[in-house]
Amino acid sequence: MPEPSKSLLKLAAKLFAVEGDRTAFIQALTAPQPLAPSILWTRPKPADLDWPTLPPLSWQPSQVERLEGDRRPGQHPLHGQGYYYCLDFSSVFAASLLQAIADPIEVAIDLCAAPGGKSLCTWVMRQPQRLLCNEVVRKRVKILIANLKRCGAMDAIVLNQDPAVLAEQLPYSAQLVLVDAPCSGQSLLAKGVDVPGCFHKVTLNRNANRQKRILANAAQLVQAQGYLLYSTCTYAPQENEQVCQWFLKRFPEFQGVSVQAMDEFQSHLTALPCYRLWPQSGLGAGAFAMLFHRHKGSRQSLNEDFLAQWQFKLHPKNSTTSSH
Ligand code: SAM
Repeated sequence: MPEPSKSLLKLAAKLFAVEGDRTAFIQALTAPQPLAPSILWTRPKPADLDWPTLPPLSWQPSQVERLEGDRRPGQHPLHGQGYYYCLDFSSVFAASLLQAIADPIEVAIDLCAAPGGKSLCTWVMRQPQRLLCNEVVRKRVKILIANLKRCGAMDAIVLNQDPAVLAEQLPYSAQLVLVDAPCSGQSLLAKGVDVPGCFHKVTLNRNANRQKRILANAAQLVQAQGYLLYSTCTYAPQENEQVCQWFLKRFPEFQGVSVQAMDEFQSHLTALPCYRLWPQSGLGAGAFAMLFHRHKGSRQSLNEDFLAQWQFKLHPKNSTTSSH
């Protein structure tokens, strides 16, 4: 096992009081093990497909499967034909909180959508009548559109807006808003990817502040009795539990939702209903997720003029890019 950096040792000490947990965490990041590939079925699974799968976990959405062995589903023709989307099981972990929402979802807005994993999870698992997929970074919109089209989510509405613009134009319009936030990306280490600066205080502060700004805008989009799902793929509490604490204080009309099915993943770093998948679980590279419920507020319809003007069109008879 390579020597862990000082920063990693410091983070491990902050996260875990028990030495065995610290060691397992450090080992998962310094000597990453291969993870079982997982797929989200976006079209009905062919009846004659004989891929061996791992037994589903109790909270695993029925549309997701983990494949046994060293299969590479991204290279199979079914992938190109849009039968499924390949995703890290950590994404499935975060998306699985959506199962705790009992009400049907009419309008869902994914504020940080590219390359499209959580949008497609929402589309398949919750089947909203309107799915708005927003990606602020223009050059990432192309991959988002390509994935939505490949998987058949042709009615998704793709936008390329700053969340502040959406908050202004589409207030109180969604039953569900997703903020799969840009973060310091520490969990990439558990996939063997180097992430320079991912433990640095400046990186953590910058990301935490950006997440707060996105969440503040997201809050304006959620209508009364609606939900907000916040997730990251990093371990630092400054970006996760502490952002949630800040959010609840700043927006008291929201409260955290306890998801009983995920009890075993309750973060030991807070009393709030925050859920963590640690890399040493062997299930995924790591994830953080919390679901918020808005108990007070207004309801408004979508601003159709705004959508008509700014959406990227996915249907083949139209262009794939907006005219602006
Ligand atoms: N949800 C995606 C999925 O499941 O495939 C992954 C989202 S990724 C973790 C975070 C996304 O947020 C990136 O696509 C990034 O371009 C976008 N982003 C970066 N800065 C942002 C900002 N200030 N506001 C909103 N999104 C931002």
